[in-house]
Parts: sequence; C-alpha cells; structure tokens
Amino acid sequence: MHRFSELNIGVLALQGDFERHLHQLGLVGAKAREVKLPADFEGLDGLIIPGGESTTMHKMIECFDLRPSLMEFGRLRPVWGTCAGMIMLSKRIEDNQAGVVPLGLIDIDVVRTGYGRQVYSFDEPLEASLNGHRVTLQATFIRAPRITRVGAEVGTLAEYAGEPVLVCEGGTLASSFHTELDDDTTLLSFFLKEFVIACRPADRI
Ligand code: GLN
Repeated sequence: MHRFSELNIGVLALQGDFERHLHQLGLVGAKAREVKLPADFEGLDGLIIPGGESTTMHKMIECFDLRPSLMEFGRLRPVWGTCAGMIMLSKRIEDNQAGVVPLGLIDIDVVRTGYGRQVYSFDEPLEASLNGHRVTLQATFIRAPRITRVGAEVGTLAEYAGEPVLVCEGGTLASSFHTELDDDTTLLSFFLKEFVIACRPADRI
C-alpha cells in the first residue's frame, strides 16, 4: 500500500510547468506545495524541479537566493528534475553560452535543446525499467536536453534511440522528457515510492 497522503512534496515554482506536477501530485494523493523561497523547503520529503526554461530558472534561483537551499536539500533528500529541471540538476552543460550554473546533483553532462527546437517536439512511448518492472511511459520531448555523458555511479532507467533519457544517482532522478502533461502518474509514483518513501526516516512515516 502506498502512503502518499503522508508525503509533503515541493515543486520549484519559479517558472515552467510546475502546475502540471502539482496537479499530478494531487491525483496520487500527496501533499503538494509550491517552493519559491528558502523557507518553503521546511518539512519537505522530496522536491520536483519542473520543465521550462533553464536560463530563466537559473536567473530566478539566483534572484530568490535559492541555490544554497537547493544544494543542501538535494544532498539530503530526493529530487526529481524533468527537462529544464534535469539541466539544473546536471554536473555540466555543454556549449553553455547562456551561463546557466547547474546544481551538480547528478553526475551527467547535458546539451540543452539537444533533441531539436519546439517544432520538433514529439511524443514517444518509452520502455523503462523501474525497479525491475518493464513499463511503457508516454514521454513528451519538448526542446528536450540530451544526455551526453553519464558518470560511473549513474543508473540508466530508459533510453531513446540508444541514448539515456531517464537516469538516477542516489536520491536524484532526472528525465529528459515530460510525463506530467497528461494524467499518467507512473513515473511520479515511482519517484514517490522508490526515492521519497525509500529514503524517509522511519520515525516520520
Ligand atoms: N530547452 C529548455 C532549456 O534549455 C528545456 C525545455 C523544457 O524544459 N521543456 O531550458
């Protein structure tokens, strides 16, 4: 039985499609909260960094002085980044002319918009291996980042055209694509069960 109703999950709500994640968290019965200020991290069990535009997200993180809180939270608690959120979690951004400073919470290199511009957005059923179970995710790639390097400790849970697009390391999960745009909560439930609940101190469950 899942006890998602006891989980407090934050969604970084500076920019991008954070409302879709809040909606999906509501669907699975978790307590969802927008995160905009350092104080908003208090009491959270996990955090989602949504898709959007990493250049804008980076500027707003600096502007709202959120970098120290994000770094500290990410070292201690599970974080899932989708698309621009994955760019922010990465270790290195190739050809980083916009000067986005990533958080370095997962040992991957990425290229922004590596799957093409907005007009080349696509939906793709994607085979993923989630905790030993083969599932098909309905993945949407929108100006999606491409992963160009994965570190030795990074696990690949799904590939597209032979390249990793869903990866994890410790308590960090990162996806190039979106699954929050429709009501398929498979990946969200996986994050809550295998990352958030799995790393929750027993006295708080
Ligand atoms: N290409 C965008 C960026 O560089 C990410 C797109 C997305 O999040 N859908 O930030």
